[in-house]
Amino acid sequence: MRSGTPPSAEKIFAEIDMSVGDRKLHLKLSVDPGPMRLVELLPLAQNLANTMVQAAVEDVVEKGEAISCKKGCGACCRQLVPISQVEARRIRDLVEEMPEPRRSQIRARFAEARRRLEEAGILEKLLDREHWAPDGIETIGLEYFRQGIPCPFLEDESCSIHPDRPITCREYLVTSPAENCARPTRESVNTARIPLKVWTAVARFDKLPPGERFIRWVPLILAPEWADANPDETPPRPGPELLKELFEHLTGKDIPAPPLGLA
Ligand code: SF4
Repeated sequence: MRSGTPPSAEKIFAEIDMSVGDRKLHLKLSVDPGPMRLVELLPLAQNLANTMVQAAVEDVVEKGEAISCKKGCGACCRQLVPISQVEARRIRDLVEEMPEPRRSQIRARFAEARRRLEEAGILEKLLDREHWAPDGIETIGLEYFRQGIPCPFLEDESCSIHPDRPITCREYLVTSPAENCARPTRESVNTARIPLKVWTAVARFDKLPPGERFIRWVPLILAPEWADANPDETPPRPGPELLKELFEHLTGKDIPAPPLGLA
């Protein structure tokens, strides 16, 4: 990792060389040198996810396969989508920033989804994620999918918040026939292998109590109500410190402080 300050000193620029499988990635990133909140690092994390996804797509093509996902296919947008806590708060804010009547329309869709989940007995399970068995995301995820509840942002089978969609949505790409996604099983749906998952790297910023192994996550469908009940109380931190920690979560390695103080 190399870093430097541009003449304006408004940003710190970092160049990062990474080996991801057989692929070499050269990343150019910039962050504010001063205190920032994790949510302000999200655009960078989203771009990083896009880079990892692009690497995954190239791997798929090199193997002679193809990505089946295309505009107008929203089958996966009826799945249980786990997102990080910081993204849950961002989703809540995104809805709140929408002009009327769109804001009320989206809020009503979240409320309707909640009502259907409650009626199906799934809401209670979603609110009790700490006690799930290790395969809970699969078993309860299938139960969830069977309800056919569309994501509140799905319109005409396309994502209406595409530039702001959660990182989990970016990282979900399918190589099996698109029609299999309507009846997904472990055998019938093949997903592209993303070399390094950015959504879990972001989720790992939420510190776990000693002994807890699983990362904290929020179901996208409950994001606004979860964010209202869980305000962000973490103090801002220097941008370079957040960036360094993001890469430590991503790679599972300690990143040494580079020259010029990216520490
Ligand atoms: S946010 Fe967009 S991509 Fe993600 S589940 Fe909802 S509609 Fe689909």
